[in-house]
Amino acid sequence: MLVVMEQDATQEQIDAVVARIEENGYGARPMPGGQRVAIGIVNNEGPVEPALFTGLAGVKDVVPVTRPYKQVSREFKPEDTLIEVGGTVIGNGHFTVIAGPCAVESEEQAMAIAEKVRAAGAQVFRGGAFKPRTSPYSFQGLGLEGLRILARVREAFGLPVVTEVMDEASFDAVEAYADIIQIGTRNMQNFSLLKRAGRSSRPILLKRGMAATVDEWLMAAEYILAGGNPRVILCERGVRTFVHHSRNTLDLSAVAVVRKESHLPVIIDPSHAAGRRDQVLPLSRAAVAVEAHGIMVEVHHQPEKALSDGAQSLYPHQFAQLCREVNDIFRIVKPGGAGAAQADPREKSA
Ligand code: PEP
Ligand code: MN
Repeated sequence: MLVVMEQDATQEQIDAVVARIEENGYGARPMPGGQRVAIGIVNNEGPVEPALFTGLAGVKDVVPVTRPYKQVSREFKPEDTLIEVGGTVIGNGHFTVIAGPCAVESEEQAMAIAEKVRAAGAQVFRGGAFKPRTSPYSFQGLGLEGLRILARVREAFGLPVVTEVMDEASFDAVEAYADIIQIGTRNMQNFSLLKRAGRSSRPILLKRGMAATVDEWLMAAEYILAGGNPRVILCERGVRTFVHHSRNTLDLSAVAVVRKESHLPVIIDPSHAAGRRDQVLPLSRAAVAVEAHGIMVEVHHQPEKALSDGAQSLYPHQFAQLCREVNDIFRIVKPGGAGAAQADPREKSA
């Protein structure tokens, strides 16, 4: 349920509504909007009686929230959520390009790739330190040392960094180093991890489970918002289907649905959707056209030597081409938009 205040409602009137909500044992989430304040009611198990609020001064309307995910829904918060990290804004009107290797393998590797992706226009650097690998015998990531390398990349190139957290045990460490914390497809419904993410001060990049419905994905995001962290970026990374021509199937329609149902930013990871580099550019073009708020792309300076996901990692020159193309498409899709990756003019002549 949402209590919508009159445009000229006073702070006292807002406080009185909050008090009435709390007196009844519920939680109140006031949300200042462009025009007026709306106050969301949370922690109610059953339906809430609208008459509790309709008579209060300054109340315009009491609106039921029909979706199971409340705080994540547009019914609850009609305005798009914008998330600012290290000077970069992620959300409506912006197209954010996140790029870097699948895994941080060494300082030299991370620095070499960061230099290339920044020059091409990436605004955020990615790199896994704790890697969720299908086989226990595969490279598991550098762990803490990987986090320290990411911090040095941030310092050297001024790029915010995103990295995955795999469990609660390593959450504090990841939180201390990362600008954005990634929860991967395999952990989308790890509810204790989601609750810990809800107590974090960092934005959370929540990937869609490889077999999750959009409703399940949004409910997973709801755990994080319900825990007190409103800064969630959703990431569609492909779902498991019967096809063999790609690693997963990129579900572009999920982006259109999420944009309608939720105010949270939603980006696309074409690399894990494709599993092979020749599909990454076409899927990235589609990501802009479907109005995703950005992409996260795997790039490696020597993909043939990569310790994970080399086959889907772009060569730096391919990534530079990708940035140019997504910029061009973004300008058509959102003529007034801002924040598209700004390709370095030096890359253009390369
Ligand atoms: C990743 O981004 O490195 C990753 C492991 O992705 P996903 O969880 O989508 O497989
Ligand atoms: Mn990967």
